[in-house]
Amino acid sequence: MSRILRHLFSGLCGLSLILCLATVIFWIRSYSVSEWVSYRSTAGEQSLYTARGHIALQLYITHWSPVHHPGLFIDQNRAGTPHGYLQDVVAGQVDIDFNWQRAGFAWYKTHLRNNSTLTIAVAPFWSLSLITAALPFTWTAARLRARHRRRRLKAENHCQNCGYDLRGTPARNVCPECGKLDRTRTLTEQTT
Ligand SMILES: [Zn+2]
Repeated sequence: MSRILRHLFSGLCGLSLILCLATVIFWIRSYSVSEWVSYRSTAGEQSLYTARGHIALQLYITHWSPVHHPGLFIDQNRAGTPHGYLQDVVAGQVDIDFNWQRAGFAWYKTHLRNNSTLTIAVAPFWSLSLITAALPFTWTAARLRARHRRRRLKAENHCQNCGYDLRGTPARNVCPECGKLDRTRTLTEQTT
């Protein structure tokens, strides 16, 4: 892997770690407060919100004219379940057209009486934390494996850069294979 790619990978891992910590914070908070980020326009309202261990995306497609408070806004509610909210919305109106639920994931779609549609996609927070933890975990595992390899090569008196057997090479000489000088090497020739 080239140096630029390695730096890019480290950067992505750092970003992923920050996202992972953020999902954990929102995950814990979602049990006491529901955070909402919504965008409202004449075409309806799109929202991303947290609800008791879940994150949900809600698309409410309708025709509004005029629009009350158009644009982006942030709101907080008392924590509710994503399912509970849907039941409130469709209470007394039409049935849910599409309803799929598994392991905390859910997908609902319904047509409301006023010729608008409501779609809600729900994912449990653990899934987001798991996905965002994957990269930092891989990075840490790769670093530990590389360190273990260098230690083993050093203990066996092999070049830590290329693995070349240095038992016949004096300590202050560079590796005959790759040209690297290992200043930490103290072992000299081992007679056989
Ligand atoms: Zn070498």
